[in-house]
Amino acid sequence: MKRLNTGQLIEKPVCPTCHKKLDGFASHLTDHWPSPGAVTICAYCRQVLQFTNDMALRLADPEVIEQVMLEVSHMQGVLNAMDKRQ
Ligand SMILES: [Zn+2]
Repeated sequence: MKRLNTGQLIEKPVCPTCHKKLDGFASHLTDHWPSPGAVTICAYCRQVLQFTNDMALRLADPEVIEQVMLEVSHMQGVLNAMDKRQ
C-alpha cells in the first residue's frame, strides 16, 4: 500500500464544527502541501472541510463534496477494473 504524505500545519486552523485545532495533514499525493481550496476531513469529527484563501477552514460546499465523491467513485472503478485484469 502506498504511504501517505504527512506534515505539520504551521497555522493550526480550527475546525468550524468541533472547534479543535488541526495541526497536521495526510495526503495521498506526493510532495503535496494543503493550499487554498483544498478539501480535507477533520481528524476529530470527520467533517468535510475546505481551506479558505487565508488557510482557515470552512465547511465544504455541497457541490465540492459531490465532486470529490465523483472522483472517489471514479478511482474505485479504475481500481476495480485493474483488479479484474490481474
Ligand atoms: Zn472537527
